[in-house]
This record gives sequence, structure tokens and C-alpha cells, in this order.
Amino acid sequence: MNPCEQPLHVLHQMRTTGEISTEEIAKSVLARIQQAEPKLHAYLAMTDEKTVLENARKADKKRTSGEVVHPLEGMPITLKDIFCTQGMETTCGSKMLKGFVPPYDATVVEKLKHQGLNLTGKTNMDEFAMGSSTENSAYGPTKNPWDTSRVPGGSSGGTAAAVAAGMALAGLGTDTGGSIRQPASFTSLVGLKPTYGRVSRYGMIAFASSLDQGGVLTRDAEDAALLLGAIAGHDPRDSTSADRPVPDYTQALQGDLKGVRLGLVKQFQGAGLDKEVEDHFQANLNELQGLGAEVVEVSLPALEYALAVYYILAPSEASSNLGRFDGIRYGLRSKHAEDLSQVYQKSREEGFGPEVKRRIMLGTFALSAGYYDAYYNKALNVRRMLSADFNRAFQQVSMIVCPTSPVPPFKLGERLSDPLQMYLVDSYTLPVNLAGLPGMSIPGGFTKGGLPLGLQFIAPAFQEEKLLQAAHGFQQVTDYHLRRPVM
Ligand code: GLN
Repeated sequence: MNPCEQPLHVLHQMRTTGEISTEEIAKSVLARIQQAEPKLHAYLAMTDEKTVLENARKADKKRTSGEVVHPLEGMPITLKDIFCTQGMETTCGSKMLKGFVPPYDATVVEKLKHQGLNLTGKTNMDEFAMGSSTENSAYGPTKNPWDTSRVPGGSSGGTAAAVAAGMALAGLGTDTGGSIRQPASFTSLVGLKPTYGRVSRYGMIAFASSLDQGGVLTRDAEDAALLLGAIAGHDPRDSTSADRPVPDYTQALQGDLKGVRLGLVKQFQGAGLDKEVEDHFQANLNELQGLGAEVVEVSLPALEYALAVYYILAPSEASSNLGRFDGIRYGLRSKHAEDLSQVYQKSREEGFGPEVKRRIMLGTFALSAGYYDAYYNKALNVRRMLSADFNRAFQQVSMIVCPTSPVPPFKLGERLSDPLQMYLVDSYTLPVNLAGLPGMSIPGGFTKGGLPLGLQFIAPAFQEEKLLQAAHGFQQVTDYHLRRPVM
């Protein structure tokens, strides 16, 4: 296998024994970018090759001089273009932020730099993370490396496509309603959305602040544990970040699923589920039972309202968060304005794409006087009911298991004209964000046509270790995570 297609922890092992150098790893990734990027359009901005190679050589020098090298050090990693990077353009997939060069790093970027980050570039995404296909990017869609006529999922589709294709070894994404897990499922990667508050949101451009959470896209559970450990932790600059110690997640990569009780959600069954996804999920359940897991049915009665609740709360928060893009403070300013109010109006008219405008209108409506109680407040109440449902379920089971997406990767353009069809793709992921829980998608297999399918685990708050343990256990008896798209 080409080095650019190997998991990061495997490559780290190899460089520790001198079998490969970090420079060779970086060269392999750079060559793959040359080859695959024109076909996939996963990147919005690239680090120049010289810098990537220099960063790699730095790690090699450290090793040969006998110093300890962190597993992530010098390894080519990518970031969704939602994370602020000092001195490097950060557009959030929007024309509104074209040319915006942040004067500071997001906390997660700072933390990765501390471990010797070797950034390949910034990856494509749905504008302001609103979408499930990366087609809402103002800079053109990204294609799925498994089938370039299909979407890689979204909104972190650029990161997913880059990692799946070997154009980076791993990457960071964000997940407000599924944007890490769903693209992971569409590209056969591991995607871990941590508990709300586990990872700092400072410097992560806000979409819906009570739902947004940064996380990782990797080739396997080991890499997810490594990367999560590097970015998790309390941050005084994000008041919602949790002040709890960060466990050594790599320690969770052991044990098995013997006797572990997994919840099968009654309300998820059937709900818009594609037949092949459903059959395959059954096969996954058998695999889990073969590992000794016990499958029990649980009920989440409020689940039927989750999609509606999400599409009130997320747009409401977005309409408020995106108020800061006024043509004055950041990025784009219309050249056609004749007075101040036209600066606001025309900059927003020209800077935002159709989906972002739709969300701002929905949110502004839900928050307006007279409708606030009927929509926003009611949605908050149902959100609390859903959390209570999850808590009750976790008294019976250790984790919940379900498909990540109700459908396999779909064709480019297929769902663009009907927003509801696009929103429905998140039915199995967004309840997790509403309840603030950690969720993880792992490679669960392939359709008959060779399209990736994801298997999702959901755990109680701050129990990411359970997810990693389940993923690791599943990897012991399956080889889905070892397959790569033909590039
Ligand atoms: N697809 C969902 C949305 O459009 C979730 C996006 C996300 O998680 N950032 O809102």
C-alpha cells in the first residue's frame, strides 16, 4: 500500500523503526494531491510543497537526534476551512469570507501546532457548514473518491474526500447535525463527533453555537484516539468548553464487546431507510452480536420531532451568528452600495449563497416577536425531552447503534433542488447534536455497487472511550476500514 493510504499510527510505527521517513510520507501525500486533487476538488487552499517537506524533515531530524517525536508530528494533516488559521485564508466555503486572513489560530489549530502540525491545506465545505453534500460551497463541489459522480457528504466533505483519497493522513471537521459522521460514512472513514464542550470552539467559525462541535476524520479508531487526544480539553476562551481532564484515548483501544448492551432505537427503524442500508445494518448487528454484544430495543419517543426541532434551532442560531457579516468587519464588501444600509444589504446579498439565505430567513422568522414562543421556545422544550429520552435509554444500554445515514452516497445534483430531501439525510445524526452526546461513524461495509456505508455508535456524554472501544472491537473482525478507493 502507498504510504499516503496508511493510517497515521502505522506510519508512526514505521518511522520509529526507521522503515520510512516522515519526508517520504509527505512526498507520497504530495504526489497524491497532484494526481487526485484535479479530479476531486477537496482543497480550497494549499500549503506550498516546500513548507510541507520542511515540516516533515524537522520531525525526521528530531528523531535521528534521539528526541521523542509525537505521533502527529510532521504528519500531513488537513483542516476544514472553518477553522481560523493565522496568516492563511479562511473562507468557510463562502464568498463572504473571500480574502479573510485570520490574525489568530483556532484553539484546536494551536493545539495541533504544539504537536508539530504539518498542514497540507484547508478543505472544502458547504458554505458556513450548512449542507450535507459539500455542494453548497461557493467554490464548487467536492467529489467522492469512491465514485466521482457522487457527493462525499457534508458539510466536512472536503476533509473526508482528502483523507479517503490519501491527500492527507487525517483531518479535522465540525459537526452541527452530522457534518463529520455523515461524510465519514460516505467515504468509508472513521468520524468522531465528541461530546459538546469536549473540544474548544474558539476560532471555529460559528454556525449554531449550541450544536457545533469540532472533531476528527481518520482511517481507523487508533488514529481517531490520537487526534482527539490532541485537540480535546478545557479552553478558557470558550466558556462552553468542559473543564474535565482529557483521558488517554489510546488506552480505550482494547477490550471487546462481550456482554456490552447496545440499544436499537425503535423510532429509527424504517424511518426513510434505504433497503440496502437496512439490510447491511442487519448484517452489522450480526457482526456485533458475534462479538458478544447484546442488542436491546430502546425507545426515544421525542425522536420523531428531532428534525423539525433542529431546523428551528440551527437556523435561529445561524441567523444570529451570521449577523456579524455586515460588509464592514470581515471579508466581502459590496462595490455597489451608495449608503450604509446598502453596504449591509448588498454585501449580504452578494456574499451569501441560497442555502445560507434560506437559513437566515427561517431563523429570523422563528425568532421574531409573536413566533418566538410558538417555534423557538417550543423547540427548546422538545430538545430537553429528547435529552431526557437519551438519558433514560442509557440506563438500559451502554451505547446506541444505528446506521449513520439513511441512504448511501447520492449523485451530485440529486438532492439540490429539494432542501427537505437534503435535510432528511441527517435524520440519524442530528439527534446526537441536540442532546450534546458523542457519536462516531465507522466503516460499516459497502453496497453491492461498492459505495461506502457507515455504522454509528452513540454514547453518554464524555464517554468517547466507549465509542473507541466499540470501533476497535469491530475492526478486529471486519476489514472495511482497510479498503481504499482506487485512485
Ligand atoms: N446537514 C446539516 C445542516 O445542513 C448539518 C450540518 C453540520 O453538521 N454542519 O444543517
